[in-house]
Amino acid sequence: MNLLIHDGTIMTMQKGRVIHQGAIAVEDKTIIDIGKTSELKVKYGRGYEKIDAKGKVVMPGLINTHQHAAMSLLRGYADDLPLQEWLEKWIWPIEKHITAHDIYTGALLTAIESVMGGTTAVNTMYHYTPEENEAKAFADTGLRGIIGHVCFSRRKEEDRKALEELAKNWHNKADGLIRTSVDPHAPYTVDPEYMKELSEIRRELNKKYGSEKVPIIGHIHVAETVDELEKIQKTFNVQLKNGVMAYLDALGTLDENLIVAHCVALTERDMSIMQHRDVKVSHNPVSNLKLASGISPVSKMLEKGLTVSLGTDSPCSNNTADMFEVMKTTALIHKWINKNPTLLPAEEVLEMATVKGAKALCWEKEIGSIEIGKKADLAIIDFKKPHFCPLYNEASHLVYAARSSDVETVIVNGKIIMENRELTTLKIEKIMESVEKIKNSLLNKLKQKLE
Ligand SMILES: [Zn+2]
Repeated sequence: MNLLIHDGTIMTMQKGRVIHQGAIAVEDKTIIDIGKTSELKVKYGRGYEKIDAKGKVVMPGLINTHQHAAMSLLRGYADDLPLQEWLEKWIWPIEKHITAHDIYTGALLTAIESVMGGTTAVNTMYHYTPEENEAKAFADTGLRGIIGHVCFSRRKEEDRKALEELAKNWHNKADGLIRTSVDPHAPYTVDPEYMKELSEIRRELNKKYGSEKVPIIGHIHVAETVDELEKIQKTFNVQLKNGVMAYLDALGTLDENLIVAHCVALTERDMSIMQHRDVKVSHNPVSNLKLASGISPVSKMLEKGLTVSLGTDSPCSNNTADMFEVMKTTALIHKWINKNPTLLPAEEVLEMATVKGAKALCWEKEIGSIEIGKKADLAIIDFKKPHFCPLYNEASHLVYAARSSDVETVIVNGKIIMENRELTTLKIEKIMESVEKIKNSLLNKLKQKLE
């Protein structure tokens, strides 16, 4: 399908270029032209479906670099608890009862919610099950994503099989929408030997199914809480004298194709090692605040030139997939913690949610900005609303005033996935009904086990 989006304000996110009365021409999956509407309307007349963006802002789709999509099933199930108690007493016990079909349905719900909030790419870490899974859910929704399989020391054999099948069946599949990753859960749940092995597995899978252009990346949680270091030392009887990043580096885990979520408790030395290895970061401020984990030293990491992107984390530690909320929270908390209102200005935060998100996922050649030759992943935001009035600066409104419900139309890979807030690929009500049913069945299974 060919598209011409016209008469909008285009936030290209390419060196801050904003085009008023702008237009974008899309052929099949790709952006083929950008410019003034007056010029593009002449060039791309017949054969182009038109989208009138008058009074609207067109921006690159937001990129959520840390999710656990299927966990939408547990949204609101357990709140207001510390991370370890939350995981061990609440989340992990109920997760034992989740089936492959449940995972698929939960991921569908997150995929829909993401699209409706202007997010066009999501990096998700969960359990891969061959029958039904998060990859299928994203592909069915038309959402772009990296699907990982989360690995723990307690189930190595199962993980090895899942990683192989995930990469084989899904890497660079669904018209290039889906890529895959290898995901050690965290340094306190994956022993040093297995951590080493998982890097080796990632290298081997890349040889078989990946390429330099389309790599199978790594995705891990590190330094989410201040007591993590102690926990790793105790659990595996190791000494981490030089910190967690030196430990992971010695195990061969750190490289430019690894994205690390959280990074709350980091030392100067940790950050220098990350910089040296060009490790990518996913900052998850809403989840970190909710679990009271702490505040990541984002401005220091940015100073060092690290690629810091943004994520929501799971729908049960956030509890939404709203990247607009994440952007605003990011801008606010780093000003507050550093007592400096000039830090993390709107433009920089927008970059973290778009161009830097793409870079963090090693996908920057195809997505993250509105540029000729890149894939058409776009969000159109309706600015004809009281909270966007008056309009001095679009970037300011997108970070400080916009809500996910302001997103009107979403295009992924050149395809319209949502138009005027109507999803084109799936029936929302049916999916919400299924999720309610799964909730009831999970609670029943849990009750039966207790009786
Ligand atoms: Zn997480």
